[in-house]
Amino acid sequence: MNDNKQALQVAALRNGTVIDHIPSQSVFTIIRLLGLEHMTNNITIGYNLESEKLGSKGIIKIADKYFCDEEINRIAVIAPNILLNIIKDYQVVEKRKVQLPDELKGIVKCANPQCITNNEPMTTFMLVIDKKKCTLKCHYCEKEQYKGEYTII
Ligand SMILES: [Zn+2]
Repeated sequence: MNDNKQALQVAALRNGTVIDHIPSQSVFTIIRLLGLEHMTNNITIGYNLESEKLGSKGIIKIADKYFCDEEINRIAVIAPNILLNIIKDYQVVEKRKVQLPDELKGIVKCANPQCITNNEPMTTFMLVIDKKKCTLKCHYCEKEQYKGEYTII
């Protein structure tokens, strides 16, 4: 099945963004990270769809919404293979892969219980020190945090 046919597993979108190749278990985290529950846009969520690559995947379609890089790159930390399809007039006009940004603010909880961010009401601040391995380092206590071990706030 090619990408275009797969995207059609969920109702067609005239204008907006299709977030594809989401691991099924990450769909609801992404909804939360992007603040989709607060939007009034028409949003379609496909869940546990068949995927050759992932076995099972999710798709989120958001009508009349285009994300800036800063918004969308936040989700790279939980699902680095996500693909964005930008839809205009029912056509995919652009396919964009998400990329891990250089720093993450307020997304990942620091794994060090002694860290000031776990003891004061403040926003966490992680530096991405290895984009391939998704290794993060806390700006405050310098603890390194590895892929698969993060706690998403
Ligand atoms: Zn820390």
